[in-house]
Amino acid sequence: MKRVYAFNEGNSEMKDLLGGKGANLAEMTRLGCPVPQGFTVTTKACLEYLQDGDNLSHDLIQEINQAIEQLEDQTQKKFDDPEKLLLVSVRSGAKISMPGMMDTILNLGLTDENVDKLAQLTQDERFAYDCYRRLLQMFGNVVYEIDMSLFEGQLKQIKDQHHLNFDHELSADHLKELVKKYQAIYTQELGHPFPQDVKEQIYAAVRAVFKSWNNKRAIVYRRLNNVPDDLGTAVNIQEMVFGNRGETSGTGVLFTRNPANGQKELYGEYLTNAQGEDVVAGIRTPMSITRLKDQFPEIYQEILDLTSQLESHYHDMQDIEFTIEEGKLFLLQTRNGKRTAQAAVKVACDLVEEGILTPKQALLTIQPESLHTLLHPAFDQAALKSAPLISKMGLPASPGAATGQVVFDAETAKAWTDEGKDVILVRHETSPEDIVGMNSAKAIVTSQGGMTSHAAVVARGMGKCCVSGCSELDINEDKRVVTYPGGSLHEGDIMSVDGSTGTLYVGEIPTVASAANEYFDQVMEWSREFAQLKIRMNAETATDIQNGLEFKASGIGLVRTEHMFFEAERLIAIRQFLLAQTASDREEALAHIKQFQTDDFTNIFKLMDNKPVVVRLLDAPLHEFLPHTEAEIKQVAQELNLPFDQVSDRIHMTKEINPMMGHRACRMGITYPGLYLMQAEAVIQAALAVQEQGVNVQPEIMIPLVSTKKELAQLKEAIKDHLDKVLQEVGAELTYTIGAMVETPRACLVADQLAEEAEFFSFGTNDLTQLSFGYSRDDAGKFLNAYLEEGILKDDPFQTIDLDAVKELVAIATERGRKTQSNLKVGVCGELGGDPRSIKVFHQIGLDYVSCSPYRVPIAQLAAAQSAIQDELV
Ligand code: PEP
Ligand code: MG
Repeated sequence: MKRVYAFNEGNSEMKDLLGGKGANLAEMTRLGCPVPQGFTVTTKACLEYLQDGDNLSHDLIQEINQAIEQLEDQTQKKFDDPEKLLLVSVRSGAKISMPGMMDTILNLGLTDENVDKLAQLTQDERFAYDCYRRLLQMFGNVVYEIDMSLFEGQLKQIKDQHHLNFDHELSADHLKELVKKYQAIYTQELGHPFPQDVKEQIYAAVRAVFKSWNNKRAIVYRRLNNVPDDLGTAVNIQEMVFGNRGETSGTGVLFTRNPANGQKELYGEYLTNAQGEDVVAGIRTPMSITRLKDQFPEIYQEILDLTSQLESHYHDMQDIEFTIEEGKLFLLQTRNGKRTAQAAVKVACDLVEEGILTPKQALLTIQPESLHTLLHPAFDQAALKSAPLISKMGLPASPGAATGQVVFDAETAKAWTDEGKDVILVRHETSPEDIVGMNSAKAIVTSQGGMTSHAAVVARGMGKCCVSGCSELDINEDKRVVTYPGGSLHEGDIMSVDGSTGTLYVGEIPTVASAANEYFDQVMEWSREFAQLKIRMNAETATDIQNGLEFKASGIGLVRTEHMFFEAERLIAIRQFLLAQTASDREEALAHIKQFQTDDFTNIFKLMDNKPVVVRLLDAPLHEFLPHTEAEIKQVAQELNLPFDQVSDRIHMTKEINPMMGHRACRMGITYPGLYLMQAEAVIQAALAVQEQGVNVQPEIMIPLVSTKKELAQLKEAIKDHLDKVLQEVGAELTYTIGAMVETPRACLVADQLAEEAEFFSFGTNDLTQLSFGYSRDDAGKFLNAYLEEGILKDDPFQTIDLDAVKELVAIATERGRKTQSNLKVGVCGELGGDPRSIKVFHQIGLDYVSCSPYRVPIAQLAAAQSAIQDELV
C-alpha cells in the first residue's frame, strides 16, 4: 500500500485517498497553477493509524522520509540547511471539506537554532520570530492540547505591557520575549521543551491531525452534516510561503462568485502582512478583494485569469485560498465553494447559461436541504421601517430573518433552545467549540471577523441567518451585556437579525413568507422535468394547501382527518360521539361531524382542482380527544348535558395503557362502523359537489394501520356498499379508489394479499419505523440522543430511513404488492417523504410519489430529480 503521494502524483479524482484538499492541490499542480510543492499522507494511512494505536507505522515513516527528501530536491531547500531553510505547513484534509473542524500547523521546521538564521536570511528578525511564536502556539495547542488561552494570555500581557493594540505592532524584541514565555509554558505544562528535531515535529503533527479526526467538534460536524465517520483524513505537508513578510505580502480567501447571492464577481477578503489563519480566524477584519486591484494590480489580473481557468476546469464556483509572498502569488487551496441557497440557484442557472454545465449537472450542484433557507420568511418591510435599530454595520454573512433572545455562549444557546426558547448567539467571534450552540441558535451575530470568518462560513453551511463583524457592538461576555451606540441589551433581551442586509434591531419584527425568484423557478422546472417520483403534500388547511400549490405539488398525499377536529366546536362533536352510550346518540353525533367534514373536503377538492387527493380516514388514539382533568371533565359533561359520572366512567373505560398500539385507526373503523362510513360519505358528497362545478375530482380514500387482508376487505366492502347507495340515491357517477396505508411490518410482509383488496398503497413510515424498532414515536426522544452519541444508531430513523430494515420492508411490500397488481400505485406519506436521503431510496425502489409538508415540496422535488440524474450516471 502506498501511503504518501507527492502533489505531482495525484489528481482531483483521488479525493477518497488524498482528501479534497490534497486531490485539488495535485490537480492544480497538474494544471500548472502556482502551488507550493508538497505531498499528501493518505486517508488510508490515517485509518490504519486510528486502528493500530498511537504510533505511525514503520512503513509510513519511511515513506514520509522519502517524500521529505524529494521535496528538498524539488524546492532546492533543506530542513537542516539554515542557508536554504525549508519550512512546511501541515494541514488536514478529509474527502468532504469540514471547515474549522480539523487542525493546521504552520512554520514547521523552525527551531531555537535556525530561527536566527531565518532572521538573517530574510533580514527580518521580526518576521522570523513571529513565525516561531506562531509555530509554538499552534503546535502546543494541536499536538499537546495545551490550552490556547495560556498562549493568548501571554500575548495579551506583552501587548498590554507595551501599550499595543494589535499583534502586528509587536517588535522583534517583543516577539523574542514572547517566544521565551511560550517555551516556558511547554516546560511548565509538559515537563519537556518544544521538540527541536524537525522530523519529530512532522511525525507529531501528522499524528495530531490523524487524531483530530476523532475530536469532539469533528464528530459533531460530521453528525450534523451526515458525513460518515469512517473516511479518515489525509494530511498535506507543503512548503511554506509567507504572507507575513511585510506589506508586499498577504494572504486571503476568495470565491469566484458571490457566495451570498451568486453574482458573477470576485468576492473575498485579504490581509496584508498576515499569515494563513489570520483571515479565517476572524481576529483582524480584512479588506475586500476589490482593494487588491489597486494595491497589487498585476496579481489581481493573475487571480482573475486563474479563477476563470479553475471554474471552467471544475465546472463549478470555486473557493480559493491564496498567499502573496513578496509580490508573488501562490494558490494554497481550491474547492467547490459553499454558498447560500440563493446563490446556489443563481450560480446553477448562470453556469448553464454560460455553457459550463448542462441543466442536469447544474441541479447536482445544489443541496436540496439548503433550499429551505430560500423559502424562509423575511422581515415585513413596513414593520422594519419603525423597528428600533441596533446597528447597520454588520456584514450580511448568511441570509434570513430571525428573532430571539440574546445569549452570549454556546452552552446557554443549547440549553435555552432545549427549553423551547428561540435564541440569538452573540459572540466576539465563534470558534469550532461553539458548533453545537450555533446549530441551536436561530441566528448568529459576531462583532469581529469578515465574510469568511468561522461564524460566516459555518452559518452559511448550516443555512442559518448570520451577521458577522458588526464592529459597533461592544460585547461583555462576563457581564452578559452587549452595548451599541443607542443602548444595550442584556442576556434574555430580544433582538432581530437580518442576515440579508447585515442589520440588527431591538425587539421582535413580524416576518412574511419569502418570494422565491426566477432562478429558483428555473431550478424547480428542471427538477420536475427530470424527477421520476411525483411530489405530493401532506395538508389539510387552505393556507398549507395554497403553499404547496405555489410549489407545484402534484397532489395531496395525506389529509389527516383527525386534524380537522381541533377547533372547540368540532372537538365537542367528536367527544359527543366517543362518549355516546346508545347507537342513536352516536348517529346524531356523526351527522353533526359529517357537516364539518363535507365542508372541509369540498374546500380541499376545490383548491386542488384536478389533482389527486388522499383522504385518510380517522386515525387518532382516543385519549387525544378526551378531557383529562376533573375540571375539564366537568365542563364537557355540562356541555354535553350528561352526568359527570357517566362521562368520567366512559373516559375510564377508554383509557389505554399503550394508545399508539391500541384502539386506533382501522380498528376504530371496525368497532364503530358508522365512523368510516360517515367520513367516506362526506368525501363523496364533497367530491360530487365540486364535480358539478366542472372540476375533475380524484378522491383516494385511505384506510390507516391495516395489518390483515380481512380487516381491509371488510372495511372496503362496507364503504363501497355504502357509497354505491349514496351514488345511486343521487343518480351520479364518480370515480374514487380505496387504498391501504402500509405502516405495520406485518402489512409489508402480506402486501401481496393486501393488494388483492387495495387500489393503492401509501407507506406511513412514522408508524412503520416505530413498529419496526419498537421505539415509541412519542418517547424516543428520551434515549435517541444517547444512541446517536454512542454510535449505536448512525441516524435518527424517524428522520432518515433505516437502511437495514425499514428500507427492506418498503422494498418487499412494494414488490409483493406489485406482484399481485403490476401497476399498483405506491407512495410514501410519513416524514421520510421529505428527507433527501430517504427520497433517493424511494426512487430506487421505484415508488410513484412521496408526500411531505408543503414547505418541503421543493426540497423533495430537487432530491427526486437528483436521484434520477444520479441513476443515469451509474
Ligand atoms: C405515518 O405513520 O407515517 C403517518 C403518515 O401517519 P401518522 O403520522 O399520522 O401516524
Ligand atoms: Mg401512521
